[in-house]
Amino acid sequence: MADESLRTACFAAMDVLRATFGEEVPYRDGLDRGFAFRGRRVPFLSPQKGIYRAAVQDGAAALAINTSANSPYDDEETPDGFHYAYRAGSVDQPDNRALRAAFAQAAPLVYFIATRPGFYRPVYPAYVIADDTMTRRVLVSPGRMIGPLDEPEPVLLDDPLERRYAVRETRVRLHQARFRGRVLVAYSSRCTICSLKETRLLDAAHIAADLEEHGEPVVSNGLSLCSIHHRAFDQDLVGVSPDYTVHVSKRLLDDEDCPMLDLLKQFHAKPIELPSRRVWRPDRDRLSERFERFRAAG
Ligand SMILES: [Zn+2]
Repeated sequence: MADESLRTACFAAMDVLRATFGEEVPYRDGLDRGFAFRGRRVPFLSPQKGIYRAAVQDGAAALAINTSANSPYDDEETPDGFHYAYRAGSVDQPDNRALRAAFAQAAPLVYFIATRPGFYRPVYPAYVIADDTMTRRVLVSPGRMIGPLDEPEPVLLDDPLERRYAVRETRVRLHQARFRGRVLVAYSSRCTICSLKETRLLDAAHIAADLEEHGEPVVSNGLSLCSIHHRAFDQDLVGVSPDYTVHVSKRLLDDEDCPMLDLLKQFHAKPIELPSRRVWRPDRDRLSERFERFRAAG
């Protein structure tokens, strides 16, 4: 396969970016820096075009594809992967040729899925596992890196069960990333309890758990919480009543003082900070249900 070492360099550079930023990587001051390959800077993707083949490549297959930040939810999901549409125009125009060559050559690529404007969740290695010129779209499925830590190799998942598991895992993480993106935006990237404003320490907590009946990934089912408040909320050590008041569990309130515990206790009986828009506010019915659980936990 052509461009093997270029793809390896690209995936290794993605590993570094993910270690820095987490699962959601910003375009600005992140992806836009590109990666080093044989003394040159190579862009990771082409946000405007979607299908991207680097100028330094020898082979015909795309190096990356991305969903549009303007319409990040267009790509239909199936149990085997994600549909990705051709560009407008001929099926043989250059971008479509690069996309279809990725299928013909089983070339591993990076699939950048927009989670919110300016941010992507990179799925790599990903493979184009089907190409349909009639519906003008391909099917993209996650692969896996195998081998020694310093020299892992991308592999296509042949086993249908393994592939479906990988797709499901990718979808769950993708939904989480999009949910987090929406909730953080709604709360101006602050912890709703302590106001901490450090994006890397913030999570989107579900009020009703994801898999429960009312657990849809809508902003009103979320709370923007720092890591410690998220953990405490999940463990019912901190609760939020339907009137938007913070409650700290008796167990913590009665516990001996220490600086970290004071940090948790001081917000007891204080109001949470609400999002600016009414529709984003935590749903009172869900809070009420959840608060019952907190009460029952004592
Ligand atoms: Zn907090």
